[in-house]
Amino acid sequence: MKRFLNWAGASHRRPEVRRALARAQYAAYVHQAPILYFTIAVVVGAAVSVCASWDNALPTIIAPLVLVLACFWRMAVWLRRRSVDIDVDTMTRRLVGTSRLAAVFAVCFTAWVTILYFTCDPALRGVIAGVFGISTLAAVYSLVNFPISALLVSAVCVPFVSLQLALATPDPMIVGGCGLFVVMFGTTFAVVRSSRDFLGLVAAQVDAQQLSDENSRIAHVDSLTGLPNRRQFFERLEDAVGRAKDGGRFYVGILDLDGFKPVNDVFGHVVGDRVLVECSARVLQVAGGEAFVARLGGDEFGLIVENVRDEDAVLTLGARICEATREPFAFDDAIAAISTSIGFAAFPDAGDAPSRLYERADFALYFAKQNHRGRAVAFSEEHERRMKGAALVEQCLRRADLDAEMSLEFQPLHDAETGAIVSFEALARWDSPDLGRVSPAEFVPVAERSDIIYPLSRTLLRKALAAASQWPDDVQLSFNLSARDLMSPAALTQIIAIAASGPIAPSRIDFEITETALVTDFDRARKAVLALKSIGASISLDDFGTGYSSLNYVHRLPLDRIKIDGGFVREMDSNPLARDVVRTMISMARNLNFDCVIEGVETEEQLALLKTFGCSIAQGYLFSRPLPADKVAPFIAARRDIGPPLERKIA
Ligand code: C2E
Ligand code: CA
Ligand code: CA
Repeated sequence: MKRFLNWAGASHRRPEVRRALARAQYAAYVHQAPILYFTIAVVVGAAVSVCASWDNALPTIIAPLVLVLACFWRMAVWLRRRSVDIDVDTMTRRLVGTSRLAAVFAVCFTAWVTILYFTCDPALRGVIAGVFGISTLAAVYSLVNFPISALLVSAVCVPFVSLQLALATPDPMIVGGCGLFVVMFGTTFAVVRSSRDFLGLVAAQVDAQQLSDENSRIAHVDSLTGLPNRRQFFERLEDAVGRAKDGGRFYVGILDLDGFKPVNDVFGHVVGDRVLVECSARVLQVAGGEAFVARLGGDEFGLIVENVRDEDAVLTLGARICEATREPFAFDDAIAAISTSIGFAAFPDAGDAPSRLYERADFALYFAKQNHRGRAVAFSEEHERRMKGAALVEQCLRRADLDAEMSLEFQPLHDAETGAIVSFEALARWDSPDLGRVSPAEFVPVAERSDIIYPLSRTLLRKALAAASQWPDDVQLSFNLSARDLMSPAALTQIIAIAASGPIAPSRIDFEITETALVTDFDRARKAVLALKSIGASISLDDFGTGYSSLNYVHRLPLDRIKIDGGFVREMDSNPLARDVVRTMISMARNLNFDCVIEGVETEEQLALLKTFGCSIAQGYLFSRPLPADKVAPFIAARRDIGPPLERKIA
């Protein structure tokens, strides 16, 4: 019985197949049922037209009339059901009802035909048996997708039809009876086969649908965190723009983890992945109720905040996310600390197209990272002006004749104790014919975001080497390299070739590199540092303390100097904490046997304090502002003739 039910699909082990089967059977039966009832009504009508007699009214008129009326009623019911949507449970209920009704119909029909057969004129028995047989065949065919009902009808009707034909006169009807029995047997067999195929087809469709659903899920979900992925984010963004077109307002946020890459480098990818998963959970917990949260890739997440009152509300949400992710992530053997910066852009103020909104939010994020790390920032008109400014700088930079427009100024680095000149740092200057003098703080980041940084670094290095060849041999050249130069093996090879074949010994060059390169890809940065050192150059870690430098980085790299960012020195005057930080950084550098350079020294008081901390090299306006190339040699000569200002003071 179980097997029987199984091939019939009613007890298929997969509920989704059972549901799909019920849906398919219902869809088929909704169309077949009216035809079936109509056929039976016509066939019954035909039988009545030859047998009707008022003497024998019950089987020849009243019973068939009831049967025909019942057929029309069922026909009307099923015709009405064609246009009504129902759930799968109701479908299943109706199909079960249909199966029961089929059995009741078959019994009633057989009973009526049998009575008719024996009470009517014997000459009409052949016709009655034929009508019965045709009705049975029609019913079995119509129930082709309901094997249980089809077999039931078959089982009830076929023996009677065959018997009736066999008992009918004349004799050849016996042959007809046997023939019909065989035909019906064959039909039933075909029904069983076809229903099995039908079930197979439905199961295959379910499989195909599930596969397609799974593919779509994989295509829209981030496999690590389970959050919606970048593709789904942009689809949702399109939808949100569509919804807000008629006066709506919403915010797009881009969220980036600060200091995630060092976590990955120091603790490894397994811990990195766990931080991402835990971080997604925290963001979802804080913002899930108010925002759509997606992982855009790496350590970047996207937010779409609809139904939000105003900018204050969205910034408050951002602040809550930042706070939640600032809590250290504790694992069995590691504690990782990161923070989160977020950039928001509002529809329609910042843009009315998804790409524009994303670009604006990304700029706000960039701004947050530069100026308000660990906080949420909303795109403003000031940002719009800056963005346009950067776009203009980029345009002019692309057109620029680097050789003619770029020049260098040089700022000395002095021995903090003796005041002797140790080195000159080359600082880029751009005189654009369209924009006038542009600060490197403005054009270097633009050049770094495009590929212009590569030819720019090469041009500047050639110029710096040419200038340094005019200085005494014991004065070094400090040259700033961009993280992009270190990350590109091709660019680095060219830089090394220029330095190695330049007019001064490579041992006189000190390359200043920033932490950005280290946190992007530590291993590659380490290889780059080794390659630069292989020609004899020395390496300084610039802007130390502003980013995520950890002791871990510093002692794993063959550095020569650490340059403590000028910002700390400026803070020192007003903030005792900054003083402690500088003291700690200096003593750490000494313990690791690095030279420690302090930049941005502007006053004698600062210098005096720094010397008590043990600082070895100092740079800043106190000694000299950056000098044009042709003023460097006279500056050196003057210091050597009359002695450095500090030496004079000491004397
Ligand atoms: P940086 O490498 O940290 O350079 C030090 C900056 O501080 C210079 O600004 C310098 O003029 C300024 N400075 C020096 N002493 C003092 C002081 O006592 N007080 C104050 N307030 N500032 C002082 P500059 O020349 O505007 O350069 C800005 C930044 O642009 C540099 O910061 C560096 O990151 C980048 N840059 C400059 N030239 C180059 C270059 O040739 N290549 C690359 N990749 N970046 C460069
Ligand atoms: Ca520098
Ligand atoms: Ca610096």
